[in-house]
Amino acid sequence: MTCAALLVAACVFTEAAPAAEVKTYSGDGRAPIERLYGSMDALAAQGPWVMKTVFVDQGLPIRVLTTKHKGPAVWILAGIHGEEPAPPNAVFRSRAALQALAAKNIPVVLFPLCNPVGYTKDWRYPDARRGSEEPSGHSVGDSEHLLLSKEGKPRLPKSASPQADALTRMVLALARAYPPVLSLDLHEDDTIPKGYIYSQGPKGSADPAARAILRKMAELGYPVAQSGKTRFEETIVDGVISGVNDGSIDELIASDKIVVDGAPRPGPAGRSVIVVETSSQKTSWEERVKLHRAVIGMAEKLFRLASAADPRH
Ligand SMILES: [Zn+2]
Repeated sequence: MTCAALLVAACVFTEAAPAAEVKTYSGDGRAPIERLYGSMDALAAQGPWVMKTVFVDQGLPIRVLTTKHKGPAVWILAGIHGEEPAPPNAVFRSRAALQALAAKNIPVVLFPLCNPVGYTKDWRYPDARRGSEEPSGHSVGDSEHLLLSKEGKPRLPKSASPQADALTRMVLALARAYPPVLSLDLHEDDTIPKGYIYSQGPKGSADPAARAILRKMAELGYPVAQSGKTRFEETIVDGVISGVNDGSIDELIASDKIVVDGAPRPGPAGRSVIVVETSSQKTSWEERVKLHRAVIGMAEKLFRLASAADPRH
C-alpha cells in the first residue's frame, strides 16, 4: 500500500470510529468508550435495529437504537450522568437480552449512552468538571423547557443545553411511533450507601414493575434503602420515590401533558417509568453491573406487567 493509500485508510477509519482516539477515564471498571460504540455497531448490524445519531458532542455521537418493529414499547436509557458508569456497561454486556426482545417483536427504544463526554471524563454533566456545584452544569436529560409549572407555563424558557434540546426532541419524536409502556432509566447514586428506585408513572410507588425490580434486588442480595432522603430531599418509602417533579427526562417520558414552543401538547404518557439507582459505597463494580443487567433482563416481564394495566395496549 502506498503512503497516500495508507493516509486515506487512516482517514476513513477515523471517520467511522470517532471515539478511537478519545481517552476514557479509567479509575473504575468502565470499558473504554470505543468498546461501547463497537457494541452499539454490533447490535445494529446483527438484527432488526435502526441506529441514529441524536447529537454529536465534542466529536462523540449520542446515539439511539430502535427496533424496526414499532408500537407500544420498552424504553431503556443509560449514561445520562457521566460519573455513573455501571448502567452503560450493563447495556454493553446485554446484547443477547436486547436481541431477544427484538426477536419477540417487542418494540424497543434504546439510548445506550446519553452523555458520552461525561462518560469519558467521569463528569456528571458534559459542561462541568466533577465536583463542581450545581447549577454550573447542565444535565443532558434536562426537560424543564417542556414540562409545565403549577401555573401551566414551561418551567424554563428554553432548553438547558444543546444536548438536552436534541435528546428531548428525539424522545418526543420517538414517543409517537413507540409509546413508552415501560421506561427503564439506569443510574447510580453514591451519596447514599444503598440502592433505590424512582417510579414516575401514574401508578407511583405501587407500580408492579417497581415492586418486581425491588424483589430482584432482594433476590440478588443488593442493599435497598427502605427509607430516608436523597441529597435532593426526596423521600424514599419502601425503596421507592414517587410523585417528584425533578425536571428529568423520566418526568418528561411519564408526562401526559407538556408544552412545546408555548403550546400545550399531549406528552409521551409513559405507564411504568422507572429509574433504578445503585450505589458503589457498599457494592462492587461487578455487582452493580450485574444488577443493571438483571433489570434489562427483566424487560419483557416488566413490559407485560406494565402492558396489563395499559388500556392502549
Ligand atoms: Zn444519575
